[in-house]
Amino acid sequence: MAQDRDYGFGTRAIHAGAIPDPVTGARATPIHQTTSFVFDSAEHAASLFNLQTFGNVYSRISNPTVAVLEERVAALEGGRAALACATGMAAQMTALLAILKAGDHIVAASTLYGGTIGQLGIGFSRLGIETTFVDPRDPDNFRRAIRPTTRALYGETLGNPRVNVFDIEPVAAIAHEHGLPLVIDNTVASPYLCNPFAFGADIVVHSATKYLGGHGTTMAGVVVESGKFDWSASPAREKFPEMLEPSKAYHGVKFHETFGDFGYTMKARMEINRTFGGSLSPLNAWLILQGIETLHLRMQAHCRNALRVAQFLSDHPLVGWVNYPGLASSPDHALAARQFRAIDGGPGCSGILTFGIRAADPAKAGERFIDACEFLSHLANIGDAKTLVIHPASTTHRQLSEDELERAGVSADMVRLSVGIEDIDDILWDVDQALRAAVA
Ligand SMILES: *Cc1c(COP(=O)(O)O)cnc(C)c1O
Repeated sequence: MAQDRDYGFGTRAIHAGAIPDPVTGARATPIHQTTSFVFDSAEHAASLFNLQTFGNVYSRISNPTVAVLEERVAALEGGRAALACATGMAAQMTALLAILKAGDHIVAASTLYGGTIGQLGIGFSRLGIETTFVDPRDPDNFRRAIRPTTRALYGETLGNPRVNVFDIEPVAAIAHEHGLPLVIDNTVASPYLCNPFAFGADIVVHSATKYLGGHGTTMAGVVVESGKFDWSASPAREKFPEMLEPSKAYHGVKFHETFGDFGYTMKARMEINRTFGGSLSPLNAWLILQGIETLHLRMQAHCRNALRVAQFLSDHPLVGWVNYPGLASSPDHALAARQFRAIDGGPGCSGILTFGIRAADPAKAGERFIDACEFLSHLANIGDAKTLVIHPASTTHRQLSEDELERAGVSADMVRLSVGIEDIDDILWDVDQALRAAVA
């Protein structure tokens, strides 16, 4: 592809990172289902191990099929480099462990995906890394929670399941004042609707399992680096000496000096993925690449269908409340309009929405609604072409205490829909008949 042209999103979604195979002419990206790669010579092997020559050694470290996915997601996010991981959880862990160690601290939004609250709040605390969860509605809550040991701020573009919109710009400014990177999970918005780097985020993580793959078939995660965070400038250099000093974990390499604006990605690759092993398989990378080729089309359809469902529920006599930032009545609507790509004149707000049923026992009505759905699938996932439905308080967020549930914005009656790309009339029909059955 011509390097000087600013290709559109759909073109990048289909082509970025890939060229016809120079050996066979295969137009589709080949699945390089191999663990290891033959060295040209002893000298070549040594220079690969010293990171002096770029090339593949072993698929835990890098693989040509996985590399196409990495380049593609970096191109879609407007980032400098990316690292693919086995799952979204592995990507978050890798992104953070590349820059945190025991004794360090994270400030994170309290409205994160339940699994992430567990990873940071329980998993990382076992490793001696502490997290303070703050209400993200006021960016100053992040500033107030920063300590001398803080090494990252963390949020989700669109919270899961509260679909609250994260105001990236002011939190990025607070992070940078303190020499800290802002890490943003962009899973729910996807790079089609939002590029967090454009608002000052430094590291983006994805559960590619969701919209990037898009068909509920494949687990994967990606870490993307903007290339703009200067690890060598004060006060960052005092906080991240390991970016500058010879690596004890990898052959004395100085990641920032050697790799410059993709030094963080190389550190995450060589010190974390290589050592802790959360790497992505080539077959799964290929499946996610297939999904990404239609990301732009699917996201438009998800946004349109979700807005129609949100409007339908808002007008429905059996529905007590609806939460979707695409609704003009949502308190997050103006922020969504600033941060997200416009679709049909309004902000595209992805496919997730939540609502509560008007009933004497709304929690029970939520469970009955789910049991009454005909083709809406009851399962714990989002971002599938199929419409999915779940009751978070009794499933995904079950492990949270009542206090944590409240801070995550998960009420007992909340039903979460991940609106798919089926015909809208069929989705509305199923929602309507299940609502009637729930209160019958
Ligand atoms: C699903 C999800 C994750 C975890 O990703 P997996 O691929 O399931 O490991 C992280 N963040 C968000 C917002 C998610 O929806």
